[in-house]
Amino acid sequence: MQNERILIVEDEPAISEMIVMTLEMAGFDCLQAANISEAHQQVVDHRPALILLDWMLPGDKNGIYFCRMLKKDQMYAEIPVIMLTARGEENNKVHGLDAGADDYITKPFSTRELVSRIKAVLRRSSSLSADKPIDIGKLSLDTKSQRLTTEGKVIDIGPTEYRLLAFFMTHPERAYTRTQLLDQVWGGNVYIEDRTIDVHIRRLRKLLQPYDCDRLIQTVRGTGYRFSSLLQAD
Ligand code: CA
Repeated sequence: MQNERILIVEDEPAISEMIVMTLEMAGFDCLQAANISEAHQQVVDHRPALILLDWMLPGDKNGIYFCRMLKKDQMYAEIPVIMLTARGEENNKVHGLDAGADDYITKPFSTRELVSRIKAVLRRSSSLSADKPIDIGKLSLDTKSQRLTTEGKVIDIGPTEYRLLAFFMTHPERAYTRTQLLDQVWGGNVYIEDRTIDVHIRRLRKLLQPYDCDRLIQTVRGTGYRFSSLLQAD
């Protein structure tokens, strides 16, 4: 079996080399890019299994810009992205996750942490992309094309809401706490407020409301949320 290829987008050569050594020892193949145009070229030429993307890059476009660009592109939206950021830029995490990043690592990080996060994200993305469309209520979710449809119509959905809904639709009829949802949807060790989940739930419900599907996302008092096709008495 061929090794999975990881693209490292990092302008500091010492950090980039350290990551390459670590990942090669863990059995991955590495591609490197020091700026966004090189990164874009690598993605087009080699289609990596995952991208490690530094937040601060030279030029006027940062890592977030690149992440957003990829996640909007049907060809590449499925490639998972882990953002790297410096300590003290915790606010960036929300922006990063909003831009569709799959996980987040703060520098300095241990090599063990890096490898385990990469493996977790790869596991999650391959289990999401393997299956046939999931139909619940009037909603149909095709995890391959990352397309949400209802009665044959495509519903336009942002990357974060997509991941949240994909988690719900693959784990229906069970109540989850906000913390569990954050861990499951954004990955563990992501230090964002539990209440951030409420914002995304609200957006998701609003998106589903015109199709009368917002009721599928139910508030479980004292716990969190549940996705269920069984109607809840108000
Ligand atoms: Ca940098």
